[in-house]
Amino acid sequence: MEVLNPRSVLVTGSNRGIGLELVKQLVEKSDPPEWIFATCRDPEGPRAKSLKNLAAQHQHRVEIIQLDTSDPSSIKAAAAKITECLHGAGLNLLFNNAGIVKSSSLESETPENMLEVYNTNVVGPMVMGQVFLPLLRKASKDSLLKGMSCSKAAIVNISSDCGSITNLLAWDIGQIPNYRCSKAALNMLNRCQSLQYAQDEILCVALHPGWLQTDMGSGNETLGGVVAPTPKPILSEEEGSEHEGEEPARP
Ligand code: NDP
Repeated sequence: MEVLNPRSVLVTGSNRGIGLELVKQLVEKSDPPEWIFATCRDPEGPRAKSLKNLAAQHQHRVEIIQLDTSDPSSIKAAAAKITECLHGAGLNLLFNNAGIVKSSSLESETPENMLEVYNTNVVGPMVMGQVFLPLLRKASKDSLLKGMSCSKAAIVNISSDCGSITNLLAWDIGQIPNYRCSKAALNMLNRCQSLQYAQDEILCVALHPGWLQTDMGSGNETLGGVVAPTPKPILSEEEGSEHEGEEPARP
């Protein structure tokens, strides 16, 4: 995190899990970004309590903004608010983190699950890229940094090794075709974005974050609580990353 120096960052799904931890780690940096746009779909709901507490401790740095990635009009409304907050500056770093999974096997999978998960995990990041492109372009153009970097202008798509066609990780633990197919598609979206946005020197990268103890990673939203090996706690709870790369990855 210390080598990362964006002036502005946006995180989707930042009210819990990996998104909340990203905001926490960013704001606690020795040289934190000037603007952290912590977006979530229900800022007034009970699930946003931890984020609100965090934002209250860092009042002029963490801005909570309503954004539902499955709703293009909500994405556009958030972009308008963020453009206003930035006072003419661009957006350096966009984390497409929000994601869902529906517990299923190939036998029980439904068209409704497939479409809902695709809409949130793939269509959402695609529309986010389209809507925030002018702000990312502006950040890239105004930066003195050479080449591409996350401190200049970047989209980070949080993917999963579950979507890897060669790895197909943890198939025996959970088939979850809706999720696997959505992450495979997100990887291709990332490839398309990286080819197209390279002309503006906007870096696009799809990352597998590792298997982490969130609602999703603990199986609460995947397998009804049934979990095989123990996933890693998120970084701040673990106090370091010495176990990096050891765990099998799911979801
Ligand atoms: P959680 O289930 O803990 O959190 C998911 C977050 O996404 C919540 O903040 C949720 O908000 C938000 N979200 C869901 N749908 C929408 C939407 N339509 N609009 C805006 N926000 C939404 O999951 P994780 O933190 O574990 O996962 C974060 C990302 O990391 C996901 O993309 C996931 O696929 C990926 N990942 C996670 C792994 C893990 O082991 N945990 C492993 C590999 C990848 P709300 O509270 O409103 O539901």
